[in-house]
Amino acid sequence: MPGKHSGNRIQRRKARKRAMFLITFNTLLFLVLIVGGFHLLTQLQSSHNQNEADKSQTSQVTAPSDSDAAPTRDKKVSTSSDDKEKLSWVKQDQPVQIPILMYHAIHVMDPSEAANSGLIVDPATFESQLQALKEAGYYTLTPEEAYKALTENVLPENKKVVWLTFDDSLKDFYTNAFPLLQKYGMKATNNVITGFVQAGREDMLTLDEIKEMKDKGMSFEDHTVNHPDLSAAASEQQTTELKDSKDYLDQNLSQSTTTVAYPAGRYSDTTLQIAESLGYKMGLTTNNGLASLSNGLLSLNRVRVNPTTTAQDLLNEIAVN
Ligand SMILES: [Zn+2]
Repeated sequence: MPGKHSGNRIQRRKARKRAMFLITFNTLLFLVLIVGGFHLLTQLQSSHNQNEADKSQTSQVTAPSDSDAAPTRDKKVSTSSDDKEKLSWVKQDQPVQIPILMYHAIHVMDPSEAANSGLIVDPATFESQLQALKEAGYYTLTPEEAYKALTENVLPENKKVVWLTFDDSLKDFYTNAFPLLQKYGMKATNNVITGFVQAGREDMLTLDEIKEMKDKGMSFEDHTVNHPDLSAAASEQQTTELKDSKDYLDQNLSQSTTTVAYPAGRYSDTTLQIAESLGYKMGLTTNNGLASLSNGLLSLNRVRVNPTTTAQDLLNEIAVN
């Protein structure tokens, strides 16, 4: 039966066509799923990587402020002016002792500077010290806060305190120390040799740099006009050195300069009397140790930071028992 035979053939051809179609369709579908799935996977993977990158970046940026936050206090990162408002001062049973750190230059020492090497701290060492202080919960005092702590025998609640001081208004305070201090949200005081700044010496801070840093929480106090040995100077010369420098800072920084660091730590009883009569409230020496009211406010001890002082040495040395 040719009709039936040919009908069968048509049906078989149709079936084969349908099968071919299904196979092709399924293969295509399979391919689409594979390609699509793979695409989706790579997208997920890359967005995951991005998240990880973001996370590590964030933790890098916030690490110093996180470690600053003691469990008992507000975790908010704040500027120095905020800190001032938020500080809650607590009367102490024992006489307050403050580590006043003494730095000079912060830079990588050149071999030609070997003679001054005792005054030069490497920036990497300096940063490790700031980081250690931060992690140990230290709060950096302004001169006004140090004065308050010593005279009222109070300390900020739940904080250890340190006062960072730098002598000689060296240029690297601006180029090396200041960026690191900002990175860790810390404050410091630089004691300025006003005559050297006025003379525009290249190795000194400029008045503009001083003003810029003052706006960002640093403070600038006195280190005389010409850095003489006050203990060997006549009283008239001492008066000029201490008065003219104070006038320069008071006028140019619109402040009332409270603190003098005696050049090379040299002073006499006459020096203390003159400083007091000129309105200085605090004097910084190079006598080693923690500062307390019993030193006398015009002859406060400091802790010298040497080039070889490690972060751990420093923490050990300034621990108040
Ligand atoms: Zn000096």
